[in-house]
Amino acid sequence: MQAIIDKLELTHNLSDDEFAALLATISPDDEKYLSQRARKVREKCYGRDVYIRGLIEFTNYCRNNCYYCGIRRDNAHVQRYRLTAGQILSCCDSGYQLGFRTFVLQGGEDAYFTDERLCELIREIKRRYPACAITLSVGERSKDSYQRLFAAGADRYLLRHETANKGHYEALHPAEMSFCHRLQCLRDLKEIGYQVGCGMMVGSPGQKIEHLIQDLRLLQELQPEMVGIGPFIPQHDTPFAQEAGGTVSMTLRLLSIIRLLLPNVLLPATTALGTIDPKGREKGLLAGANVLMPNLSPTEVRKKYALYDHKICTGEEAAECIRCLAARVESTGYKIVVSRGDHIDKEGTKIR
Ligand code: SAH
Repeated sequence: MQAIIDKLELTHNLSDDEFAALLATISPDDEKYLSQRARKVREKCYGRDVYIRGLIEFTNYCRNNCYYCGIRRDNAHVQRYRLTAGQILSCCDSGYQLGFRTFVLQGGEDAYFTDERLCELIREIKRRYPACAITLSVGERSKDSYQRLFAAGADRYLLRHETANKGHYEALHPAEMSFCHRLQCLRDLKEIGYQVGCGMMVGSPGQKIEHLIQDLRLLQELQPEMVGIGPFIPQHDTPFAQEAGGTVSMTLRLLSIIRLLLPNVLLPATTALGTIDPKGREKGLLAGANVLMPNLSPTEVRKKYALYDHKICTGEEAAECIRCLAARVESTGYKIVVSRGDHIDKEGTKIR
């Protein structure tokens, strides 16, 4: 197995059979070797720095009905909220004081946030914090819309592909959602010039090893600057309430594989990973992740952005969160830095 891991590190590629072997149960020794190699590669590119992104969950209204997601349209138990521009700017303000230089605006697909409203917001954030990057994570929009948001100053866009297998995508989403459109969005975003993040849930219902291999092939093809992966966690008011969740070990293994596949990629240890294991985010960092995305949303709305059950950090203020996180990061031997934390391309230059 170690020969396969070495080959992945060296060539950033494997055959389907080799990927399958790596994704099937591997021995604890091999697991350890895989995460060590991933850590080496991560340190070669980003040293011991951990980048932080301030996540602002600014609306939980959503027109979509994804079977896994707690804020899906048909979930009548969600108390819907939408932050005002003033509230969003004050999240940025406290975030800036705490050392954040990237703000991630994430939300459901909420028609209230037209291009005009979002562009105005982006311009105002950029006017106040010219040294900060803005990441959007607001789902599928038209290429024109992505273009306008980019022109207004958005730097990055997160849109997980969720699964690279069309049949599997259709098992996770109602028929009104289109796998082809999701991929088209990712291609449009790349073409426009965003730093793009895609990614999948680990252990989502019906996921097979062959789907994960297709996910890895998609990453190779798309060459995203960021990859967001986290375990699927059932949410009690969704059609997948009774399904099993993803595991810590598979998530960690995939983080390491992705680090070796795309050495310079920005790879978060996600809140979902921290939710299924009290040390999940630390383990993620030690498996090759180099980004954390703490919550900057006002405390009173955090519980309402319940994509999945038992989500952590919904009770604290941003300042408490970052203190707790800084200590966790230190325990791994890494350190949080005050930086935009841009992607470093293969020649070692920052992409802006
Ligand atoms: N509407 C935006 C943001 C979605 S929420 C968009 O479409 O991109 C961000 C991510 O949370 C999703 O892409 C999905 O991968 C993840 N997510 C949603 N429900 C989840 C669940 N039950 N368990 C784990 N992750 C989930």
